[in-house]
Amino acid sequence: MTTTAAQTPALHKLTVDQVECRNKVVLVRVDFNVPLKEGKVGDDTRIRESLPTIRHLMGKGAKVVLMSHLGRPKGVTPGLSLAPVARRVGELLGVPVAFSPTVVGAEARKAIDGLKPGAVLLLENLRFHPQEEQNDPAFAKALAECADLYVSDAFGTVHRAHASTAGVAAFFPKAAAGFLIAKELDFLGRALHSPESPFVAILGGAKVGDKIAVIRSLLQRADRLLIGGAMAYTFLKAMGHQVGTSLLDEPHLELAKELMAEAEQLRKELLLPVDHLVAREAKPGVAAEPSGIDIPPDRMGLDIGPETVGRFVAAIRTARMVVWNGPMGMFELPAFQGGTFAIARALAESKAVTIVGGGDSAAAVAEAGVADRIAHISTGGGASLEFLEGRKLPGVEVLTNV
Ligand code: ADP
Ligand code: MG
Repeated sequence: MTTTAAQTPALHKLTVDQVECRNKVVLVRVDFNVPLKEGKVGDDTRIRESLPTIRHLMGKGAKVVLMSHLGRPKGVTPGLSLAPVARRVGELLGVPVAFSPTVVGAEARKAIDGLKPGAVLLLENLRFHPQEEQNDPAFAKALAECADLYVSDAFGTVHRAHASTAGVAAFFPKAAAGFLIAKELDFLGRALHSPESPFVAILGGAKVGDKIAVIRSLLQRADRLLIGGAMAYTFLKAMGHQVGTSLLDEPHLELAKELMAEAEQLRKELLLPVDHLVAREAKPGVAAEPSGIDIPPDRMGLDIGPETVGRFVAAIRTARMVVWNGPMGMFELPAFQGGTFAIARALAESKAVTIVGGGDSAAAVAEAGVADRIAHISTGGGASLEFLEGRKLPGVEVLTNV
């Protein structure tokens, strides 16, 4: 059977360990979009996640040129300079990291030319140039000019076609994935192209509208779909249940009906909550009250109930692959974190390949204290969702197939 480009599993990409880089200038797109507080890096998780790729390149004697965006500047914005980030990267690597206050041009070129093998330099915030987000070919070419090789390791931005994530690759004979992207493509690619069965997908969070495409895609691929969180109320309402004052995605009620009909047609099991924890309002300190499937008119559903937790956990126990996106309730309030944490623990205890995507879901797994027992926690919220929708990600498409 011939394989068309569309069917080529995304994980078959050239990776950074497969390229010769001694004495070469390697331009690496990383995601250093970290919080800054008073000129200092706050949470440096994103920097740490890129260290394996950087260390590998240093060890191989490459001249490493890092580039990233930071925040949403309109032109040059001193408060969004990457200079403090260069210092933090240096601390983490244990060697000084040079910083180029210009991104392209003669000055940047001079700094890069002065690099010794194994040395690291960080370019200033790419988004100081509007051409970055415009994927401007001249800007992409200028970025590429100083380097011999392109490596992308910024999974959080691969769904955006910007100069540094997409356009730049055209100016290199080869474009390789860093270790972080390779791991993302490996796990998410398995869920998308060759999931182990039974494959259980769990979806939650707030809005149905944002996640229609991913629900559709996972309906095709998963054996069972569990829906919790606020998203569930749109489905329950569409079935004719009382949802009280729960968060509803009114414009998507019809669509919820369609999705349920689709599930039936595909003979896929779609599990919805059968009980809830409710309150009069969502605010700190309110007590959680139990509710059956129909919610009283003056109450809102804020977590899945114990019976539902039992059913969902039982479904997870049978799985060999689990993908989870979206909390089961308003887990920011301690009274309503039980359902989400129970699902997190069930994933941790499962022998299945477990994948968690989404910023809030990743935070919930960390808060539940089980992050190190999940096979893969995706670093890209938007990117992982778009990937699971089956969409092509511009920053992945440009990487060399092998
Ligand atoms: P992720 O970031 O993992 O993709 P989302 O952003 O889609 O997840 O959804 C997370 C948000 O959904 C959280 O802020 C959570 O409070 C909210 N949420 C989940 N269930 C409910 C609920 N029953 N009522 C109100 N908000 C909810
Ligand atoms: Mg979120």
